[in-house]
Amino acid sequence: MNNTDIQLDITKTKQSKIDQVDFSNLKFGKVNADHMMYCDYIDGKWQTPKIVPYGPMEFEPSAKVFHYGQAVFEGMKAFKDENEQVWLFRPEQNFERINKSSKRMAIPEFPKDYFFESLKTLLELDKDWVKKGEGNSLYLRPFVIATENGVSASESDRYRFMIITCPAQAYYNKPIKVIFAQEYSRAADGGVGFAKAAGNYGAQFYPTKLAKAKGLDQIIWTDASSHEYLEEAGTMNIFFRVGDKLLTSPTNDRILDGVTRKSIIQLAKDNGVEVVVEKVSVKEIVNAAKNGELKEIFGAGTAATVVSVDGFEYDGTYYDLPTVDEPYGTFFKKALQDIQYNKVEDPHGWTM
Ligand code: PMP
Repeated sequence: MNNTDIQLDITKTKQSKIDQVDFSNLKFGKVNADHMMYCDYIDGKWQTPKIVPYGPMEFEPSAKVFHYGQAVFEGMKAFKDENEQVWLFRPEQNFERINKSSKRMAIPEFPKDYFFESLKTLLELDKDWVKKGEGNSLYLRPFVIATENGVSASESDRYRFMIITCPAQAYYNKPIKVIFAQEYSRAADGGVGFAKAAGNYGAQFYPTKLAKAKGLDQIIWTDASSHEYLEEAGTMNIFFRVGDKLLTSPTNDRILDGVTRKSIIQLAKDNGVEVVVEKVSVKEIVNAAKNGELKEIFGAGTAATVVSVDGFEYDGTYYDLPTVDEPYGTFFKKALQDIQYNKVEDPHGWTM
């Protein structure tokens, strides 16, 4: 992040809002730090990125994003260590992924130097919004929307790339109850499931609302054609511990290639835990739950790091998971957070 050739256009806030924020009582995503970045794509070119005070923007009602959902996003976090230094975790993964998502949605790719210089400048300006301490972070939300005006159903010729940030505390810290999807699906073969396309998320709200009405917190999505294989949760990849092995689905064009997932797979290898990256069938997990071999299920994603599951519903039956000593979920959460908060050596060079 030392590129000095990039000139950003910076307008600093006149009055920080930080004193109005109760950092011990944050609702995820509801509070934004003082600054944001935006950069327009006009006439086939990304213009100079601008850093401005966070605030409303104007778009015409005919802007294409409102009609066709041509939009992608990312989610990443900045952490502060005990020496007040701010760290990002594997940010090049998010950079590559947003461009992969953009490509699938016919959005032009964003330049790497603009991305990193913008992040660096935002974090310098808003470093006081990154709080020390376990679970605290500044959530970074890069996203791109189609801004050409006109309701014809075709790709836009104008876009806006933005980064907004929100201070965050530990997210979903209670174990959750899930349901294995049997009716609805999240993504199809040849579709956009692997992309962080906005519509993938909007389409999950209705089935998730139905699940919540039954007292469940989240859906574990299965493959759309057979509903026989467990793929991922709404905003997390998913791991199953059967005996001492950790199982997780391989990524494919329906599943997001999560940074937390791939980091846990590496940490498992580093710590001698056998990881099986193969299709995980509903049948084998239900059988393992019945015969006591299923020890844990946990979700893995940037927002929550690791979330443990305390039971699942399938075909009208609820299966409770046992309480285990030294859960893998807790172990991997701590191992990841120790690296993210710069508490231990970072052998894979993940932090920046
Ligand atoms: N799956 C989906 C659908 C997601 O939205 C996310 C969150 N980005 C994840 C998995 C986890 O990915 P990551 O670990 O990169 O946050």
